[in-house]
Amino acid sequence: MNTTNRRDFLLKSGAVIAGSSLATACSTGDSPQKAQAPYINFNDTFRWKMVTTWPPNFPILGEGCNQFAQWVKEMSGGRMEITVYGGGELVPALEVFDAVSSGAVEVGHGAGYYWAGKIPAAQVFATVPFGMNAQQMNAWYIGGGGTELWQETYRDFNLIPYPGGNTGMQMGGWFNQEIRTLEDIQGLKMRIPGIGGKVFNRAGGTSVLVAGGEIYTNLERGVIDATEWIGPFHDYQMGFYQVAKYYYYPGWHEPGTALELTVNKEKYEALPSDLQNIIATAAERLNNWSLCRSEAMNSQYAVKLAEEEGVQFRRFPDDVLATFRKYSEEVVADLTGQDPLAKRAYESYATFQQQMAQYTPYNEQIYHSNFGALA
Ligand code: CA
Repeated sequence: MNTTNRRDFLLKSGAVIAGSSLATACSTGDSPQKAQAPYINFNDTFRWKMVTTWPPNFPILGEGCNQFAQWVKEMSGGRMEITVYGGGELVPALEVFDAVSSGAVEVGHGAGYYWAGKIPAAQVFATVPFGMNAQQMNAWYIGGGGTELWQETYRDFNLIPYPGGNTGMQMGGWFNQEIRTLEDIQGLKMRIPGIGGKVFNRAGGTSVLVAGGEIYTNLERGVIDATEWIGPFHDYQMGFYQVAKYYYYPGWHEPGTALELTVNKEKYEALPSDLQNIIATAAERLNNWSLCRSEAMNSQYAVKLAEEEGVQFRRFPDDVLATFRKYSEEVVADLTGQDPLAKRAYESYATFQQQMAQYTPYNEQIYHSNFGALA
């Protein structure tokens, strides 16, 4: 492009005009930009603590927290260092929300449903049975106002939440017997927490709470008949395939569990603006990294479980899923009927889910069901 042509192009594109007005704005003393000048001080250094609900270095979930701290350190040129603690190392796993809310520590990582007793609405921001998958959750969070609503919901707790990863759609769980009809659920003891557990109880089963480290032994000894955990990768590490034969799908109870990264609001606001942006950027990177890593590892380990360990993959019967779905609606109605914050969160969630449900038959749904695999 010669000089004349380039000038023509710039004139046509409006770039010159935009540049001129920018120059004008810069020369007029108290411009809006100057009034809102970001606070940046390259001499300030920050040493933060991050508590998590995961065992130290727990695959993907805990590793992601380590990555987050590393990214923040690198992006800030070492001005900000975050030390990561596993659940129980600094505060008990289920006290992460409180520890960050009180300002005892600056950052936390977990999943909203762990604090259901404190803030019932948090469950909606983690996952809802028969709700949205990971891709839809991210669309709601990042493109559909979900994150803003979440931040508003946590404001009174002095917390700023960010989507901090996603497990992807979980598996339905490990069963030591086949589920052919609803009758097979009756009296069945399953380790399944949260809203899913309540649904399981209404369907005639018995949901039980078992600490992560005891699930395998309980399943092996018949103390429980079934358990859900996460997905093929994490479930493989737990060794469940050695003590339960059937691996059921889909994970109706956790169709796309979002993890949350929380930052204490006052500590965040006291940061220089570039470090605030670095925290937000690292959180977004973590959100993406965690889901992508989960999808990659789960697909690899699903194949491994089927081909190397002879695990029998089974689909829940339609009438069982229909019953779970009916009871899920009831449990969610109870939740939203009792708590205004949960009601507001779920209205936004459900509206977005409905919008996606009307759209996906034209793209993802037909594509995956017909052309997802190589011919
Ligand atoms: Ca789970």
